[in-house]
Amino acid sequence: GKGAAMVTAVAYRLTDQARQIQETLAEFRLSKSQLLEVKKRMRVEIERGLKKESHKEATVKMLPTFVRSTPDGTENGDFLALDLGGTNFRVLLVKIRSGKRRTVEMHNKIYAIPIEVMQGTGEELFDHIVHCISDFLDYMGMKSARLPLGFTFSFPCHQTSLDAGILVTWTKGFKATDCEGEDVVELLRDAIKRKEEFELDVVAIVNDTVGTMMTCAYEEPTCEVGLIAGTGSNACYMEEMKNIETVEGTQGRMCVNMEWGAFGDNGCLDDIRTKYDQAVDENSLNEGKQRYEKMCSGMYLGEIVRQILIDLTKRGFLFRGQISETLKTRGIFETKFLSQIESDRLALLQVRAILQQLGLDSTCDDSIIVKEVCGTVSRRAAQICGAGMAAVVDKIRENRGLDHLDITVGVDGTLYKLHPHFSRIFHQTVKELAPKCDVTFLLSEDGSGKGAALITAVGCRQRELDAQ
Ligand code: BGC
Ligand code: MG
Repeated sequence: GKGAAMVTAVAYRLTDQARQIQETLAEFRLSKSQLLEVKKRMRVEIERGLKKESHKEATVKMLPTFVRSTPDGTENGDFLALDLGGTNFRVLLVKIRSGKRRTVEMHNKIYAIPIEVMQGTGEELFDHIVHCISDFLDYMGMKSARLPLGFTFSFPCHQTSLDAGILVTWTKGFKATDCEGEDVVELLRDAIKRKEEFELDVVAIVNDTVGTMMTCAYEEPTCEVGLIAGTGSNACYMEEMKNIETVEGTQGRMCVNMEWGAFGDNGCLDDIRTKYDQAVDENSLNEGKQRYEKMCSGMYLGEIVRQILIDLTKRGFLFRGQISETLKTRGIFETKFLSQIESDRLALLQVRAILQQLGLDSTCDDSIIVKEVCGTVSRRAAQICGAGMAAVVDKIRENRGLDHLDITVGVDGTLYKLHPHFSRIFHQTVKELAPKCDVTFLLSEDGSGKGAALITAVGCRQRELDAQ
């Protein structure tokens, strides 16, 4: 009778809705051939960044770091390190001891950088940094020491030496004025002078990927690649000097900071970018920039999810068709929430509780959909990040003329460390797309701190040699 017809109609509407949701998510599900295409395009951009004639226009900048070797265990001394550009700003004291029993002892303090400082003037930002250093030195009782300092500054910098780095562009949540185009080491030195409280010897500016690689290489000499899958996304590796046409010399190797986050900024990923990726880009502080990073790093995954949820809600498939104020709020889905929502140990009721915490009233069906959206977005992130890494390890293999390469990648970053599936899918993708490489992944312990100190130690030693 009439009842049965109504049930059928409801069921029909539900399946139609399910179909439409799946169609939306299908755009995020990349085939193996699409991923191989991403790998291939990354390789093209790598070459463009390395070559003299294409470097200027290249999107993947392949920046020289002036780090020419991994640590050899003879590094020794007390160093100060700064870590700016990740989830937290930190000041660290790192004591490295060489000899039979090598040890690294670290003390660190975390400082908040208020958003108005991140996005204020450069002078305010660097004064704040120096204020934090001052506090730390007071705390450690070391204000008169004139320590050598390594500055982990996790943004693209054009380096002309170990201790000079011109900021190419801010990324992630930073937008302080009067810094782009300036030497960040000089900005720091100037701020230290303004303060007139202590002296420091700024020896090295270090990208977090490089610090991560060096930290892992200290334990495992086969580590010649560094990866950050965190707030931002980037990689570095030891490239042959003869291939780095932007630096004088052809002997040996140098670590290259790829700045792969900018992959796609020339439009080469447009066929896999969705309208949600475009919306995330348009809503960001740096529209048109860091397009790959916006598809695969912690700062943006939650934003992609939010854009999809807004669309599904508008189409009446979620939250009873009601777009709440919460859903309109940028940055609500931090990596830690996504990680919780996607945890297999979590019952749907708990997913609802998390959404509730965020101010989203959900039904059971809603929570199933939200979980699926999160899973789809983070899977694509892990896969395209894996495709990038596959390009890197295959490039190293070819550099060395090998049919088979064994290599270790040092890794850090909240997404890699906290997310329940990211690392597994990432590993699997690298394996599938670079079958001639056996890649071991090593979690770095505090790469930004320890790595900066190790690089500073090598830099100090080199300076003594040069002076002789
Ligand atoms: C920056 C890189 C950095 C990465 C990870 C990106 O936004 O451009 O320099 O290595 O984030 O922190
Ligand atoms: Mg970090």
